[in-house]
Amino acid sequence: MRQIPGAWRRTARGAGLLGPGDVPAPTIFAEMTALAARTGAVNLGQGFPDEDGPAEVLAAAQEAIRAGANQYAPGRGVPELLQSVAAHQKRFYGLDVDPDREVVVTAGATEALAATLLALVDGPADEVVVFEPYYDAYAALVALSGATLVPVPLRFPDFQPDLDELARAVTDRTRLIIVNDPHNPTGAVFSAEARAEIVRLAERHDAWIVTDEVYEHLVFDGAHVPLATLPGAAERTLSISSGGKTFSATGWKVGWVTGPADLVDAVLAVKQFLTYTNATPFQHAIAAGLALPGAYFAGIAATLRAKRDLLAAGLHDAGYAVSPAAGTYFTVADASHELEPGQDAGDFCRALPGRVGVAAIPLTAFVSPAHRSEYASLVRFAACKRLEVIAEASARLRGSA
Ligand code: GLN
Repeated sequence: MRQIPGAWRRTARGAGLLGPGDVPAPTIFAEMTALAARTGAVNLGQGFPDEDGPAEVLAAAQEAIRAGANQYAPGRGVPELLQSVAAHQKRFYGLDVDPDREVVVTAGATEALAATLLALVDGPADEVVVFEPYYDAYAALVALSGATLVPVPLRFPDFQPDLDELARAVTDRTRLIIVNDPHNPTGAVFSAEARAEIVRLAERHDAWIVTDEVYEHLVFDGAHVPLATLPGAAERTLSISSGGKTFSATGWKVGWVTGPADLVDAVLAVKQFLTYTNATPFQHAIAAGLALPGAYFAGIAATLRAKRDLLAAGLHDAGYAVSPAAGTYFTVADASHELEPGQDAGDFCRALPGRVGVAAIPLTAFVSPAHRSEYASLVRFAACKRLEVIAEASARLRGSA
């Protein structure tokens, strides 16, 4: 087989996706969605909704195409979306964001994370603190940027960080702390104490904070609190979000970064050579979405909450210990009672579609190889599906379908 040099190998290895003989594997999401399709399983694996988002937002995309918004957008994003993002940050969080200097639009939150990491870290001496389990792209992108990943564990069932462990992880070598709140894959929402401690440590060690808030409108009790709203945080925080979850349009890939102008400029310096600009009509549509009335945003949280409740009850009835999700598309359950001797959640999830007709994601896909054994029986189920789909999956898991 020929040798292909380049950064791909360390990126794939960073994500735990380099197989024997240096063969790159697809992400766990692609693998499980393909397996669900092949077996006809109910797909509670990859997190995407099975219904369309609001008609106004879909119509706005069609209208933008019809009206000729089909050429390159400005590098920072179309002015309507820059303004809409700034207005959203003010309306929901009281944050003052200058639409001309403190926002950049990206190809989803994924490009925002990639451009931010490539912009702000520079080689192995730079450490990036993440909460483990972590969204798979974090380890891959940290590896691509050449930096060193420093995981802080979140443990079943409440998945809150231990503040002493967190304090030990953040040092003067820490260049940035990535905070995904609400948290994928665990469904946790960080406690006020954890949020305050992250900001205190970042100030003390002069680290940047990068937040991933793609589930900001999918919190079930109370409201989401962006770290940028905490005293002292705004000047060192880049906040990332995306329209995919909020508008049930994960295929549109419209994301954004907000924060201090100098940091946003650094991100833009990289972003403009990754994608240059992003899909113009979808930017117009997300601009319209962000301006929807408050009832829309409250409604999506309430709808998903009912789905989460049904999923949690179904898993409980099937004998799983369930971590109560406070937000996001996801619920984590302990499958210990289902595991054969020597089997882990990865083996279990690869067998489940064929055996029972349900696809799910093992938490081992979200942790570094050295820590897999600590998450070996935990499985993530997606609740962002129609109620009848969740009911069918629950019946299959109970063995009564
Ligand atoms: N964010 C989605 C999830 O966690 C999937 C995204 C992807 O396929 N990369 O399931």
